[in-house]
Amino acid sequence: MKFQVYLKGAPAMVLAGLLATALPVQAKAPIEVVTSFSILADMVKTVGADQVNVVSLVPADGNSHEVELTPRDIKKMSSPDTQLLFVNGLGLDSWTDRLLASSGFQGKVIVASDGVKVRKLDEAADHDVHDHHAADKDDHDSHEEHDHEEGHEHEHEKDHDHGHGHDHGEFDPHAWQDLANGQVYVRNIARALSQADPANAALYEGNARDYIQQMQALDEQVRKAMADIPAERRKIVTTHDAFGYFADAYGLEVIAPLGISTSAEPSAKDISAVIRQIKEQKIPAVFLENVKNNKLQDQIARETGAKVGGMLYSDALATSGEAASYLGMMRHNTGVITEAIR
Ligand SMILES: [Zn+2]
Repeated sequence: MKFQVYLKGAPAMVLAGLLATALPVQAKAPIEVVTSFSILADMVKTVGADQVNVVSLVPADGNSHEVELTPRDIKKMSSPDTQLLFVNGLGLDSWTDRLLASSGFQGKVIVASDGVKVRKLDEAADHDVHDHHAADKDDHDSHEEHDHEEGHEHEHEKDHDHGHGHDHGEFDPHAWQDLANGQVYVRNIARALSQADPANAALYEGNARDYIQQMQALDEQVRKAMADIPAERRKIVTTHDAFGYFADAYGLEVIAPLGISTSAEPSAKDISAVIRQIKEQKIPAVFLENVKNNKLQDQIARETGAKVGGMLYSDALATSGEAASYLGMMRHNTGVITEAIR
């Protein structure tokens, strides 16, 4: 209103000048963005709002360690309009390397996890309960440290993509499961969007700030919810080892019979070792994952008497419901875990 009133009496030159500065921000087409998986897509949408069009290559409830590309995906990647591809990095989505080569993608690749404190995979590779007591140590500051090792994974992991998409690299890729890392992702996303579309930089930075505040508040809630559970009951079984960062950050012990891989079949010996461990350590609950076949969990629950605690969202958002957003997923997982082991 105020704008129109002002324009009415303005000389033509001023009017033209105002239109030139005011209109492009309003009328410009959204920037076209692709993400490797659904959790990144939600983050980019939250930061970019209606100024970005986002396509996720792996959809909600999909397995983010591998991908089935559609002609629509290839077309989007080949389009000169597509400016940015956001990947997780750390070996989760190194399948994007093939896609980059074959699609002739002309935009920029952003590694969203760049700068997180990386969890080394050898800590997670064995089948023993990880003895994490992160709740006792305040390691939040260290999340700000820049660890650039993982920034180069696109080059050196090309050669050992095993077809099932899960590189057995040095690092645990599931960094988003710690809300402190989620904040690093969001800063990287806001920076990339602002560089690609400087006219809307203030919008992106503002949205990122609000989003990070929500992450910090939720981080606090998760910490409190976990701290309320007696330490000896803070132990769970998941399918594949997607919760190492969550465990480190919030003080949980996790057994994952499939290890970090999404495709390996555990041997009968592995399974009986896990069952023995669950019984000895009185682990209260076994969880299902939205991205996994859960037959093994049912067997483990039957043979150990541990309860099946419900569905955890590890590597993909839900298509609907509470876990259909990143923050909702973190809230949902925390609720389901604390409910089952309290
Ligand atoms: Zn995974």
